[in-house]
Amino acid sequence: MLIHAYGAEAGDQPLVPMQIPRRTPGAHDVQITIAYCGVCHSDLHQVRAEWAGTLFPCVPGHEIVGRVSAVGDAVENFKTGDLVGVGCIVDSCRSCDECGDGLENYCDAMVGTYNGATPDAPGHTLGGYSQQIVVHERYVLRVRHSESQLAAVAPLLCAGITTWSPLRHWKVGPGSRVGVVGIGGLGHMGIKLAHALGAHVVAFTTSDSKREAARALGADEVVVSRNREEMAAQRGQLDFILNTVAAPHNLDAFLALLRRDGAMTLVGAPATPHPSPNVFSLIMKRRSLAGSLIGGIPETQEMLDFCAEHGIVADIELIRADAINQAYERMLAGDVKYRFVIDIGSLAPA
Ligand code: NAP
Ligand code: ZN
Ligand code: ZN
Repeated sequence: MLIHAYGAEAGDQPLVPMQIPRRTPGAHDVQITIAYCGVCHSDLHQVRAEWAGTLFPCVPGHEIVGRVSAVGDAVENFKTGDLVGVGCIVDSCRSCDECGDGLENYCDAMVGTYNGATPDAPGHTLGGYSQQIVVHERYVLRVRHSESQLAAVAPLLCAGITTWSPLRHWKVGPGSRVGVVGIGGLGHMGIKLAHALGAHVVAFTTSDSKREAARALGADEVVVSRNREEMAAQRGQLDFILNTVAAPHNLDAFLALLRRDGAMTLVGAPATPHPSPNVFSLIMKRRSLAGSLIGGIPETQEMLDFCAEHGIVADIELIRADAINQAYERMLAGDVKYRFVIDIGSLAPA
């Protein structure tokens, strides 16, 4: 079956309307009519071939929400009409230790929602900037928010879980002092979630204009990272830092803000490396520097349920599909508060 999508034919080409194939649902498959898809900075890195190995045509999008439109014979947990989501993972080996632990994100055979290997045409997965997707039931998430919140739920499927997973792994909660660096799609969710988990949140931004808005998101303090005095006031104060910045920068400036035994986790994935941190930034206070990749399926469901219970959604700007190239430019300029979401209804030709 052919459906409408938006994608690129090469890394130096803009995204354009295209038609793509989707498989007929198998016994364990869920077919989803996509309502909205969030726009992650990873989409831009991938479709512009900033990361190695982009397969074309590339249809990005891994913050997918919509309604079930068909299910395979063996599917028991989903039925037609259910509100569901799909994040960054559409398959994995289902038998390794990571899959057994519900951490499919660390499975060596994990298949990404786009740019992953698949037997389906054209041989690699095509993402959510499209009208419909067919996914094995194991990787489909239940959405318990109300339908009116659906567009703003979409970014939870990547920005939400990518910040939730490390916040939980490093045991952020009441009494923690947490820094969130970069107030973009990921960072604004990091602030909301750390705040909801009961932490004292310090937001770090390069954008003076986000100072007030960051407080509205739940930050207790906001530091403009170019301001030396504001940075100095945070030295040795933080237990944990979640660093979401999409570009290479000086990590030592942030490591210095950690207490003894504190950890900074990088989730931002710039196309070119950071300057190496100075080893003394780590050894002097037994600090750790770590990384984290999205999150597993069970913890994604846990995060979605937590957000539904606490009334948490992303702050979004809804766009038509034909505004995607302009949206990428605005994202690069830091000009989005805080996530673009594509109204997939705008994809169908008039
Ligand atoms: P985004 O919305 O563009 O936000 C990134 C933020 O970083 C910007 O809003 C900006 O915040 C800050 N920043 C500071 N200097 C920058 C610069 N020179 N260039 C770009 N940003 C700069 O991006 P996102 O969707 O949150 O994604 C952030 C990064 O995480 C990307 O590299 C993405 O690929 C990666 N990612 C990783 C995972 C994972 O599993 N680890 C998952 C999803 C995304 P201020 O204005 O506040 O300074
Ligand atoms: Zn993403
Ligand atoms: Zn596995």
